Amino acid sequence: MDNKIKIGVYPGSFDPLTNGHLDIIKRASKLFDKLIVGVLHNDSKKAIFSMEERVALIKKCTSDIPNVEVEFFKGLLVDFVRERNATAIVKGLRAVSDYEYELQMAMLNKHIDKELETIFLMADIQNSFLSSSAVKELAYHGGDISGLVPEVIKEDIVVKLTKPLH
Ligand code: ADP
Repeated sequence: MDNKIKIGVYPGSFDPLTNGHLDIIKRASKLFDKLIVGVLHNDSKKAIFSMEERVALIKKCTSDIPNVEVEFFKGLLVDFVRERNATAIVKGLRAVSDYEYELQMAMLNKHIDKELETIFLMADIQNSFLSSSAVKELAYHGGDISGLVPEVIKEDIVVKLTKPLH
């Protein structure tokens, strides 16, 4: 019997967190003793929300889930997963279009570390067409993002997106 605590890592850009992401976090938190939400710091992918803002928004929405931690990471996901002694990567799958890319990433990570598993959770049907980009686009043009992002961070997102960007 393996008595080690089970740690999972849910990685992503979360620019910003949506209801789709939060649903995966809640469901995955029940599968592990500890779930680490890993916010990717990617220099080549321009994010609208800063690293600190993205982490803060996720923390605001997950403060009531005791076994969820939020951290940012740079570099290879497998390295971050190993450093945290995690045994699995969690990914959300929306449409078939997510599948091909995620399959490639899962195979690549498996190639790097044979012990590492990737667990896919199917997106809830009502979130299956939801993405951070869609939320940003909608908010930027003054559309209503209610029901697409957690209520507690809705205003933060609207304020950020409607402020002139420079
Ligand atoms: P996005 O595609 O919205 O920019 P991220 O890169 O932050 O999202 O994605 C992080 C993880 O969350 C990925 O595994 C992605 O498939 C998953 N995900 C994104 N949007 C949803 C959603 N609406 N429902 C379930 N999972 C999602």
